[in-house]
Amino acid sequence: MEWETVIGLEVHVQLATRSKIFSGASTAFGAEPNTQACAVDLGMPGALPVLNEAAVAMAVQFGLAIDAEIPEVSIFDRKNYFYPDLPKGYQTSQMYHPIVGRGEIEISLDDGSTKRVRVHHAHLEEDAGKSLHEDFQGMTGIDLNRAGTPLLEIVSEPDMRSAKEAAAYLKAIHAIVTYLGISDGNMAEGSMRCDVNVSVRPKGQAEFGTRAEIKNVNSFRFVERAIAFEVERQIELIEDGGKVVQETRLFDPELDETRSMRTKEEANDYRYFPCPDLLPVVLDQAYVDHLRSALPELPSEKRARFQDELGLSAYDAGVLSSSREMAEYFDIVKDTCGDAKQAANWVQGELAGALNRENLDIEQSPVSAQQLGELVARVLDDTINGKAAKQVFQGLWNGEGKTADEIIKAKGLKQVTDTGAIESMIDQVIADSPVQVAQYRDAEPDKRGKMIGYFVGQVMKASRGTANPQQVNQLLKEKLDALC
Ligand code: ADP
Ligand code: MG
Repeated sequence: MEWETVIGLEVHVQLATRSKIFSGASTAFGAEPNTQACAVDLGMPGALPVLNEAAVAMAVQFGLAIDAEIPEVSIFDRKNYFYPDLPKGYQTSQMYHPIVGRGEIEISLDDGSTKRVRVHHAHLEEDAGKSLHEDFQGMTGIDLNRAGTPLLEIVSEPDMRSAKEAAAYLKAIHAIVTYLGISDGNMAEGSMRCDVNVSVRPKGQAEFGTRAEIKNVNSFRFVERAIAFEVERQIELIEDGGKVVQETRLFDPELDETRSMRTKEEANDYRYFPCPDLLPVVLDQAYVDHLRSALPELPSEKRARFQDELGLSAYDAGVLSSSREMAEYFDIVKDTCGDAKQAANWVQGELAGALNRENLDIEQSPVSAQQLGELVARVLDDTINGKAAKQVFQGLWNGEGKTADEIIKAKGLKQVTDTGAIESMIDQVIADSPVQVAQYRDAEPDKRGKMIGYFVGQVMKASRGTANPQQVNQLLKEKLDALC
């Protein structure tokens, strides 16, 4: 039997407001526990929430970026439940009238193709506090700094059909929110987390299977791994004659598995009702239009522009537009060296490799975009060859000089293109290699092409890597063939 996977995601994005969604307390990450929670966040009797306009603006910007309907009126509801990290006894959320209606997100897949995933809606809500289990033996600590932090929850339709598509969707949201600057997108710090809904059905069947919801997955890689495990679990269960039950599960990255948390029967009844402390949010058209006119170029637009205007492949355009930092870096390299294709190669090759090795993000690159652009320009104008360029890159990476030119000069890497200078090095190498020259002469003509490599290597070495390789090849062949 062939199975099809069906996935829907609920993504929580922490909005980059300076203060909380209903209070003036700071949202800065990493403060001492409970130093950033005020009476409103603690749910003190009589304390009244005031909606943070910045959170509204950010939610609307997101809605506009995904071409969503923006309803005129949205309403905050109370989602009632008890938990130690929720002193108010309810979470303020939007159940029935969310701030962002139906929209669409374009995702790009590894083969360069794209697919549209429908967004059902996105709503504003507040985050809860955090329970800390590690530092307190036999007890639990509660840190309420996070309580009241604004979240935008983006709920997709069940449109994804593989773990890869789900990861691509999450990456697309990451790109959109970081381009808009409405979230720092820092997954390690929990600025983006998602609940993954997964079901399977026999290929060709119209109805969906019963889904399991995997809570709080916080990295692109974990999303893929959690789905892979869950799909296999469900298929095995059904093939063994069992039934998938609708339940909430937890992904354990250590064991690489999902475990049941609670089933539908024990599901909470949250008794949603409109929060009497908050007025309905009414957006007038001028406000929405103003936000629309201020939208920056978005990832999908940038990707299309990289392909159409710069002639980059779908793959290159996808990678280079994947985050705002990456796109800005690439733009500077390209403008400085004047060649988009070469800029793309360097950013995705030498630079990406070095960043990966040291586990750095592009914002942390020791080589600035300007420096890399100047280096690529020196390759393009033949000041240095490809081999020397790698040395210059290393030099910039290690901080051995401020500019490519400075390192080229200090290390004497300027390419030798003077035919006379190259010829005298070749003559020397030939004079020093009588055995190899004899072998070359005695070899069948069609084998000689391979044997020339030795001489090229010697000449490049003699020039400390600075001779122009094409000229060396050409001149060597002429000189050696003249000896045969
Ligand atoms: P609830 O009302 O229980 O929250 P929703 O209908 O709002 O459920 O769906 C929540 C999420 O689950 C959405 O992202 C949706 O796309 C996804 N989803 C719904 N049904 C399925 C299914 N059968 N398989 C996979 N995902 C699903
Ligand atoms: Mg839901």
